[in-house]
Amino acid sequence: MECKLVPSVCSYCGTGCGVLFEVINNKIVGTLPMKTHPVNEGKLCIKGWNLHEHVNSILRLKQPLVKTFGRFMKTDWDEAIQLTADRFKEIIAKHGPDSIGVLVSAKITNEENYLAQKLARAVIGTNNVDHCARL
Ligand code: SF4
Repeated sequence: MECKLVPSVCSYCGTGCGVLFEVINNKIVGTLPMKTHPVNEGKLCIKGWNLHEHVNSILRLKQPLVKTFGRFMKTDWDEAIQLTADRFKEIIAKHGPDSIGVLVSAKITNEENYLAQKLARAVIGTNNVDHCARL
């Protein structure tokens, strides 16, 4: 049996607490607070303590789904992105770019949030950008 602690950062919110994943035989089985991390100094909220559960959840989405005739069907990323781009074009042509809004999240990095607002403003052509921290 191989056991190890793997350092990481909690992905539930933008605070960015340091965690140690307990890994046994390459499977994440637990989460511990990182005492030396400058953000949380050995503390976690309830979400952080249970961080490992969503990694192994059978409900976790691992590939995109497209709703067809009222049912979600699995697809690949190329098809999902193409479908999304095509629908954006249709909506923009019919209703204008301000008919689309982009919601970003504290669960992604600052760089990813920056790219999302660039996509909204420079590609889609709307300033309708908001963040989950304001919701
Ligand atoms: S442990 Fe709690 S406060 Fe810390 S990053 Fe995760 S969700 Fe946020």
